Amino acid sequence: MKPSSPFISKSKYLNGLQCHKLLWFYYNAKDQIPAFDMQTQAIFDQGHLVGKLAKKLYPGGIEVAGGERDFGKILELSKEAQSHRKPLFEAAFKSANAYARVDILNPAGKNDWEIVEVKSSTEVKDVNLHDLALQRYAYEGAGLSITKCFILHINNEYVRKGDVEPKKLFAKTDVTNEVSDLLRSVPSNLRTMIDVIRQRGYPDIEIGPHCSDPYGCPLQELCWKFLPEHNPLTLYYFKKEKAFELIHDGHLDIRKLPASVSLSDKQEIQVKALQNGKVHIDKEGTRDFLERLDYPLYYLDFETFGTAIPLYDHVRPYEQIPFQFSLHIVDPAGKKPRHESFLADGTKDPRHEILKRLKKLLGNKGSIVAYNAPFEKDKLKKASDVFTEFSTWYQSIETRFVDLLAPFKSFYYYHPDQCGSASIKAILPALTGKSYEGLEIAEGGAASLEYLRVTFGDVDDKERQKVRRQIEQYCALDTEGMIMIVEELGKLTR
Ligand code: SF4
Repeated sequence: MKPSSPFISKSKYLNGLQCHKLLWFYYNAKDQIPAFDMQTQAIFDQGHLVGKLAKKLYPGGIEVAGGERDFGKILELSKEAQSHRKPLFEAAFKSANAYARVDILNPAGKNDWEIVEVKSSTEVKDVNLHDLALQRYAYEGAGLSITKCFILHINNEYVRKGDVEPKKLFAKTDVTNEVSDLLRSVPSNLRTMIDVIRQRGYPDIEIGPHCSDPYGCPLQELCWKFLPEHNPLTLYYFKKEKAFELIHDGHLDIRKLPASVSLSDKQEIQVKALQNGKVHIDKEGTRDFLERLDYPLYYLDFETFGTAIPLYDHVRPYEQIPFQFSLHIVDPAGKKPRHESFLADGTKDPRHEILKRLKKLLGNKGSIVAYNAPFEKDKLKKASDVFTEFSTWYQSIETRFVDLLAPFKSFYYYHPDQCGSASIKAILPALTGKSYEGLEIAEGGAASLEYLRVTFGDVDDKERQKVRRQIEQYCALDTEGMIMIVEELGKLTR
């Protein structure tokens, strides 16, 4: 049944601004929209924690509707709470077809209110302004007088020392003028959206940069399925806008691009490798790279997490904190590689223990090989800036790092199966046949989320130990994979 007079909440309003097709599906075929993935759910969970902390800045505030789910009841409770003239949390109001729940509604003067929208990002984004414009429209339509609109977001300059201090963790930005400007377009946007929702079929919208901006669209699998494997979006460092232009013009396969499309040298290599079905290899460049490796080789990989609310002292919001390393040591005698690893238990800042162990394990000579080495170097540098007793040691090993990503970024080697990616996830299977398939945890983002879940969440010990083993397996494959990659490169240059 078609919704005759649909309500548009702030999240649906933002969906509608991003794409009318997405909005239509939400109201007419919601069952075809996949559930949120793990990463999106983690962003929501983080948002809830941040929201809870933000309320501490408004003592005496009233939690308006608690766990109430009935729409009418929430509106009734919100109306009732207004008379107390206290900060209101999660109050809801509606006007015509717009409906919104405000994070914090703060009383101002005798009869006025300020909207405070809490965001776990470190800056104000355009999408936040549209969000507030819809809110203001709904509240003013419901009879509230709104004088100011604020975004309470994370202050990325904050460094935790002792207990988290909400006053310092949050930055409050006044966006009243920006919201006023956008307010004018809300009624017409709503009218258009209602027309879209009432349409018989979904609107015919081409895919484009909007599919991931401002949010990754959950319908990508459905809308993008016509794309072949080697489509213009897979071209190495090719501008997204240009890639979509080619797609819209019907050039779906990069093997058959018109001659007028100008490609960089690396993109040419990618296309030629595909057309010929052959690997491209620059033996001299690869040999030069391999000659820079000094034995013993220390293959090192970190897994990290970053949270909006820092978990430890001397940590900024979202700063990436290593919680695990895998280290494979290979000496020239051709002995079996030795594996060392560490996975923090969450009781204290893991960086000190990581520095202590690596200082012992990395010796004083031999290359330290990492895939995208600036990342590992940066984590060690930042950790040694905090635990300064390791500063001199870090400086002494800094120049020993070798980046295994370098030969692939330089296209010394390119396999058609890489699909324009030089990441280890693309290189390892293409070059060695070994892959991450079959692992329960097969990607760094998932390792980090799972680590946070089983370390700080409410899970039983059996589950915790199981996931810790999976995370160990995953990280170990990263360093084991690097050994295999170097061996294969060696064979190819012989
Ligand atoms: S994938 Fe793109 S075109 Fe399809 S609904 Fe989402 S935003 Fe719209």
